[in-house]
Amino acid sequence: MPDNMLIERPELLKPATTPEKAEKKFNPEDMKKDVIKWGIEHEVPYYLTHSCYKGLQPPCKTCPACVEREAAFTANNVTDPLIISTK
Ligand SMILES: [Zn+2]
Repeated sequence: MPDNMLIERPELLKPATTPEKAEKKFNPEDMKKDVIKWGIEHEVPYYLTHSCYKGLQPPCKTCPACVEREAAFTANNVTDPLIISTK
């Protein structure tokens, strides 16, 4: 898109949705759940992934990253393979 097009058509610079609408639609928990779901369907090797903010192995299960990760796996009725493999 040429630069002068934005001057001639300023509506192109406007977001397609308002921030208020975007905020309503965006739910981080649902997004994480969907990401995990996608990964399960595509056989992502989650046992090789690590999310813990503290960098602990096994994961601490108490930091926000661990809590969100566990919730996302639970929402998909799956146990985090990282938790299983490190029990
Ligand atoms: Zn952690």
